[in-house]
Amino acid sequence: ARRVGRSKWCLHEACPHVPIEEEPSLEADLGQAIARGELTLHYQPYVDIAAGRPVGAEALLRWCHPRLGLLAPDCFVQLAEEAGLIDDIGTWVLHAACHQARTWRQRGIPHLSVAVNVSAAQFNKGNLVSAVASALAASGLEPQALELEITESTVMHDVQAAIGTLRKLKDMGVVLSVDDFGTGYSSLSYLKRFPLDSLKVDRSFVQDIGVDPDHESIVRAIINLAKTLKLKVTAEGVESTEQLRFLLHEGCDRVQGYLFGRPVTSEGLEHLVKQRSLW
Ligand code: C2E
Ligand code: CA
Ligand code: CA
Ligand code: CA
Repeated sequence: ARRVGRSKWCLHEACPHVPIEEEPSLEADLGQAIARGELTLHYQPYVDIAAGRPVGAEALLRWCHPRLGLLAPDCFVQLAEEAGLIDDIGTWVLHAACHQARTWRQRGIPHLSVAVNVSAAQFNKGNLVSAVASALAASGLEPQALELEITESTVMHDVQAAIGTLRKLKDMGVVLSVDDFGTGYSSLSYLKRFPLDSLKVDRSFVQDIGVDPDHESIVRAIINLAKTLKLKVTAEGVESTEQLRFLLHEGCDRVQGYLFGRPVTSEGLEHLVKQRSLW
């Protein structure tokens, strides 16, 4: 872990109280962030129900701003997209995450995969395949240990092109997931044509388990849909044992959320996984 400026190492999760719009230099700062080593990844475990242990971790981007402290992606990913910086940042994330997963696998956690969020801009620009190939080659990570999370709207933007890109990634051996499933508009007939491995049920549905029967039905329907399409299904944002019980009962394959661990530094993740090889 690296300490940047005077910012306390990764204590706050949300944006600081300074409104981002009142920070005119933020865009310029972001342009320098990679070179200055201010970007970092936190990792949140996901647990495979059948294996009974964490089998991977999602890489979640953080910006250790020298003055504002630790910024969550909601504070700057949109800015990065508007400023045309999301490509460079996405490439940095891929390299950092693959390198980290390779390190874990060499350090006694051979079964751990890493999941990386891919932005729409990066996916649709067309250099994703080569960026992934170069991150895998540079790190020496097995492609099967890299999972890419792509949202529904990203793949639905240009279906023909998306099928081509996904096919190339799939042929490389990379694992492909649809993120935030249920919040976008995906046509079921297309879903079947995409070479996918899994669906991630959006947190907004999971958090209403036990609260809103409609959302429970949606979760159940997504799990059944995934089974029909022979896809694995992950529930994100699992916070309570009640939610977990429901998901187990419905046959969900993987779970992720504060109940199993918040996003933490790479060292924190390594520690957590080594401690909880059995849940
Ligand atoms: P996401 O992909 O849906 O990631 C899950 C978000 O939910 C994370 O927020 C995570 O910290 C949070 N979360 C996980 N479990 C729980 C839970 O049990 N309860 C609650 N309340 N929240 C939970 P985070 O890290 O702030 O990331 C927000 C979004 O930013 C991500 O949503 C993703 O869309 C985007 N993002 C994160 N890292 C990257 C990246 O490297 N590249 C791109 N393009 N986008 C990223
Ligand atoms: Ca995600
Ligand atoms: Ca998600
Ligand atoms: Ca989300």
